Amino acid sequence: MHVHMVGNGFAGSGGWLRLKGWHRALAGFMLRQLGLPAGALKGDLEQTYADHLLALIRESSLDAVVLLAHERVHDPDGTPRHDLGSMFVPNDVVLGLARQHPQFLAAVSIHPARPDALDELDRCLAQGAVLMKCLPNCQNIDPSDRRYLPFWEKMASAGLPLLAHTGGEHTVPVVNPAYADPRLLRLPLECGVTVIAAHCGTRSGAFDRDYFEDWVSMLPQFPNLYGDISAMVSLNRCAHLKDCLRNQIEQRILHGSDFPVPVLGHRLWLNGSIDWPSCRRIQRLSNPLERDLQFKKALGFSDQVFTRAAELLRLPQ
Ligand SMILES: [Zn+2]
Repeated sequence: MHVHMVGNGFAGSGGWLRLKGWHRALAGFMLRQLGLPAGALKGDLEQTYADHLLALIRESSLDAVVLLAHERVHDPDGTPRHDLGSMFVPNDVVLGLARQHPQFLAAVSIHPARPDALDELDRCLAQGAVLMKCLPNCQNIDPSDRRYLPFWEKMASAGLPLLAHTGGEHTVPVVNPAYADPRLLRLPLECGVTVIAAHCGTRSGAFDRDYFEDWVSMLPQFPNLYGDISAMVSLNRCAHLKDCLRNQIEQRILHGSDFPVPVLGHRLWLNGSIDWPSCRRIQRLSNPLERDLQFKKALGFSDQVFTRAAELLRLPQ
């Protein structure tokens, strides 16, 4: 679950990457973490990145990853905002990669305000999309806006789950911080969409609002609500990782990585969640996908957390 596709449109995909200030520095750090040359940002990034990711999956204990497209920012009336956002990964990039490699499962990304949103959803469903990903606070989507009702209803009837970013965000620029609130996901939940709250509403930076307990309080009411523990083996987002082991919560947890976000387990040792020999051994694993998974196994997450996605995704029969 939750692996980002990244690209710069070098070979004509239509995608783009626009990095400024802090986000440029962060992208350089991520590339070095991955073992990619800094020059990769200027060449055919889609190809270099996809090849590298494929090799990491093959040498890890994962069978496949849900690979995410990334939609552009839009106004609520459907006007695209080309002046906002730092990247665009078109749906065809992930749909194409999923056709070529069984290790990739295509997660498309569609702003529901787009005038062609329902047509694009149909097109992606026909081409094998397994999930729809959005970042409400970064792409300016209020999931509770009644205008999106037909879109959520179509997703529900197609059995396409929604992976929605919740909580703070610092890797991609935030357009509307209020849309990080998991309680705004009530409308798609009421329509019957399986909703996965990415990061379980946790904060990313010290000054973000923490929505973890808000997300937890919604679980009894909505049996179709889940959360992923992506990016939680990190210095900034690990505060609630052990809370996700609680019995009533763990049944709703899905493993996600948030690759290429770096996997750093040091705070899990500092807060007593893991002993130093285990922390050191796992942190030394060079494959970040495997490192993330091993940290979560060492914390005690059950096997179901790593396989539950197979029951929820819209996989071919
Ligand atoms: Zn992510």
